[in-house]
Parts: sequence; structure tokens; C-alpha cells
Amino acid sequence: MPAPLRAPPGLLRALLPDTRCRLCAMPCRAPLCGACQCAYRGDTARRCPRCALRLPTRAERCGACAGRPPAFVAAVAWADYAAPLDRLACQIKFGGDALLARWLGGLLAQRLRQTPPGAAALVLPVPLAPRRLRQRGYNQAWELARGVARELGWPSAGDLLLRRRDAAPQSSLPLARRTANVRAAFEARPLAPGTRVLLVDDVMTSGSTAEHAARALLRAGAAEVGVAVLLRTPAPAQALA
Ligand SMILES: [Zn+2]
Ligand SMILES: [Zn+2]
Repeated sequence: MPAPLRAPPGLLRALLPDTRCRLCAMPCRAPLCGACQCAYRGDTARRCPRCALRLPTRAERCGACAGRPPAFVAAVAWADYAAPLDRLACQIKFGGDALLARWLGGLLAQRLRQTPPGAAALVLPVPLAPRRLRQRGYNQAWELARGVARELGWPSAGDLLLRRRDAAPQSSLPLARRTANVRAAFEARPLAPGTRVLLVDDVMTSGSTAEHAARALLRAGAAEVGVAVLLRTPAPAQALA
């Protein structure tokens, strides 16, 4: 009788999802433990409805959007890009944690449900440039988008919005150079007339990536573009608060 097959040591563990909270390392079944989910569920910050920037005053929108509104009609953020949640963005961007990204997409979808209801939209990720996609092996924004689409029951597509060239990563550049870096970087395949698009990304800082991606989608026939980001970088003065 042949000996029973045994998995090599460590293989089973590698096949099973990580069962520790990604923030506090407590054993748990979900990517975040119950305590961390409670602690970070309630982002009640007032945000600019156009760009999701946290508003420190009673203003209805931020100064930038009041002066020159972006190409997208609205933006929603799950939370600010600040400790300790910034670690989640690092884990999905550089740690290859696709399970975490999809699960966080579900949380982002719940935040979208709290905003005034809109008709279903086509959920699209901000794409990576081809070379970066090959290096990283996956696009964290696509995993987030899949989580959003699954939670809301909306359609999604990973290949309608394309990044044309291998520009420098936005996160490696000072704010002043980011706009020039992404200008003309996006191109979208033709969309059916009347298509509403929800563009999903992990982090929004200057907003220039979302702006140029939205312009490409509008050129391709989108009726309107909304944006959903996991984390929104606060304005510098707010970051100190
Ligand atoms: Zn935890
Ligand atoms: Zn704004």
C-alpha cells in the first residue's frame, strides 16, 4: 500500500490565507480583526464631495474644487492616508496582498453606499503601466475595484482604461511634477454611450492621476466619471492636525 501523501512543511500555511490582523497581528479570520474594524470603520470626516479632501471648516467644498472643479463629478474615500492605515496601502501595493485589497474594496463599497444613491456604474481600476504591472505581478487598484464591484453587484472591467507609457511612479515624484508626469498617460477603449464610470484607486494625493484618467474616459464616451479611493492624502496643514 503506498504511503499517504503529505504536504511539504510550510506548503499548507502558504496556501491558506494569512489569519492574522494586518494592523495589530491578532489572530483572526478576516484581514482586519474585529477591534481594528470597529476602530477604523467610522471615518466621519466631512469631505469635499468633488475630491474627497477632508474639510477642516464648514465650507461645502475645498478651495481647489471651488476654483477649478475636476473632470470627475464626485469622489469618495474610505479614510485619510495616515498612520496606521497607510500600512494597508503599502501591503496591497508592495506586499502583493490581493486578498486584503479585495476585502478593502468591500469596505470602500460600503462607504459608497452611504453617499447619495446613484445608478450602477462600470467599475474600472486606475491601470498600471505595462512594465510596472510585469514587475509587481498584479494591479492593486484592480483587486480593490473587483471588491467594490462584487459588493455592489456592479460590472467591472480591467482592460478598458490603459496606461500608455511607463512614466515614473507618482509616489516617487514631488507634487509639482505629478501633473506633468501623468498628462496624456491614459487612453480608454470606446465606451457605450451613456456609460457611467466609477474609477477606483488605492491612494489619491494630488488628484492628477484621477483627473487625467477621467479625461481619457470622457474622451472615450463616458457620460460621467466618479472616483472611489481607499485612502485620501490630507492637505499638508491637516496632516499635522
Ligand atoms: Zn487588529
Ligand atoms: Zn475638493
